[in-house]
Amino acid sequence: MNKMTRLRCRALVFLIIVSLTIVSLGNLVQAQRPASKSIPAKPRLVLLIVVDQFRYDYLERYYDLFVPGGLKRLLTQGASWVDANYDHMPTYTAPGHATLMTGAYPALTGIVANEWPDRETGKKVSSVSDDTTKLLAGGPREQGTSPRRLMASTLGDEMRLATNDRARVIGISLKDRSAILPSGRHANAAYWFSAQSGNIVSSSYYFEQLPKWVEDFNSSRPVNQYFNKVWDRLLPETEYLKRVGADSPEWEDIGKVAGDTNAFPHKITGGAAEPNRDFYAALEYSPFLNDVLLSFTKLAIVNEHMGEDDVTDLLSVSFSGNDYVGHRYGPYSQEAMDVTLRVDRQIAGLLDYVDSRVGLRNVVVVFSADHGMAPIPEHATALGLSGGRVSSTVALQKIRGAISARYNTGNKNPDPTADYIMKYDDFGTMKDGLINANLYFNTLALNRDGVSLDEIERVAANALMTVPGIARVFTREQLMRGAASFTDPIERRALHGFYPQRSGDVVAVTDPFKYFVEYTVTATHGSPYNYDSHVPLIIMGSSFKHGRYYQAAAPTDIAPTLAAVLGVQPPSNSVGRVLLEGVQ
Ligand SMILES: [Zn+2]
Repeated sequence: MNKMTRLRCRALVFLIIVSLTIVSLGNLVQAQRPASKSIPAKPRLVLLIVVDQFRYDYLERYYDLFVPGGLKRLLTQGASWVDANYDHMPTYTAPGHATLMTGAYPALTGIVANEWPDRETGKKVSSVSDDTTKLLAGGPREQGTSPRRLMASTLGDEMRLATNDRARVIGISLKDRSAILPSGRHANAAYWFSAQSGNIVSSSYYFEQLPKWVEDFNSSRPVNQYFNKVWDRLLPETEYLKRVGADSPEWEDIGKVAGDTNAFPHKITGGAAEPNRDFYAALEYSPFLNDVLLSFTKLAIVNEHMGEDDVTDLLSVSFSGNDYVGHRYGPYSQEAMDVTLRVDRQIAGLLDYVDSRVGLRNVVVVFSADHGMAPIPEHATALGLSGGRVSSTVALQKIRGAISARYNTGNKNPDPTADYIMKYDDFGTMKDGLINANLYFNTLALNRDGVSLDEIERVAANALMTVPGIARVFTREQLMRGAASFTDPIERRALHGFYPQRSGDVVAVTDPFKYFVEYTVTATHGSPYNYDSHVPLIIMGSSFKHGRYYQAAAPTDIAPTLAAVLGVQPPSNSVGRVLLEGVQ
């Protein structure tokens, strides 16, 4: 060994010793450092992204077509639960959006449907209608709205309580309920789109006048640029043919958007000669309003100072265009596929923007949906899946017949049972109290004739069970007594969707792939079945471990998980679990 080699050898040994020392010192430092779980870095912003009617399986079916910065970014960097299901029915927009940030199902939020008959006034109300408020920038006869029917606090409410209102909480959507319900009763603001006025609107519940930046946005008439605009496929038709089949199959023929056909390319006019209400309504059935929503959201981030300081803010953004398109063309259509690919690009645009303003490392991003979607019944039937439409008129005839047979034994004329089923005022039209597959009785008439509510519920339930396509029927008495079984998922979901003051006296469930026809719509959702309950649940942020998680989860888990990570009180009625497997 010459001198040079010896020197090199010594240097090498020295290097090894030094490196080993550094490694062990490092270990020592690491051992003394408290586990990162106990001191999570507080994010500056919680960004909830909801896509209305986004089925979980869209993530799998279109993954390879997503852009790197959108849903693919959330899936490759975030924690994703592959088996997340709503544990309630009906699976509608308002109940789902209410659940997302309260961690509670409709039996606890009171948001049992989008609309229901109010037992006190006999009038139909919506989940957010409120006559004591005024709509700001809406159409002339549009109702005021507020979160007053929401019976639980949201994560945003708790974040504001915890910071003496320094946290800012904003909800944005095309639909009023989807902006108002996730942000909560103590939010700073909620903004949504009015198809009557073509404006972004809000409610006097939050402030007396729209902020100037919103008025400026509206005065530029941002939706009018889409008049006469053509919606065509984003990608070559071969991709669509391969994944969802031909455009405009016969099962799409249930309806049409005014001034349009069921085939690509779609020209958006609403049959109008210039931008008006018909055009705004037609625009809802396109991907373009989601673009308006994205532009508005970017402005809101700047003007509402979202994520600007160390106090965590909450921004909830719900893209509604996907729901309108899905109802019109069904979940296996070229249009539904296209609006899914487009919302992925819109989400990428939102995430890039939030990254440039706030830095995604300072943000917790949550992605989910309010419900899934069933195939068009005629499509299901064509595949042998026994789809169908259960007529509510036929169901009512059966119920009336059974009630009359039981309570008008003397065959009196006029029949004293004629007013036993509640009638409600639907904006001036009196309708029978069978809505959302819930039957409502007129308790005044029952009391007048000494009829037992419990008994007449059973009479109606037995009659409903004879209607083809009805799978299950639950009575109010049964649900209130807790007689429903928790081991039966359908009974449990019915119970979780039941709020006695607002739900019906009898609740019906159709067979899978069938639905109750209360108005004409090509495809819909609302059932307790997996195609309606299974939704994405992805959380991306520094406190979350990237992974694909197979544990059962539910949207009720989102709010308590975020509350735990943020160190704030969980919302008042939250029942979900902390999604431990995904937390760092
Ligand atoms: Zn819907």
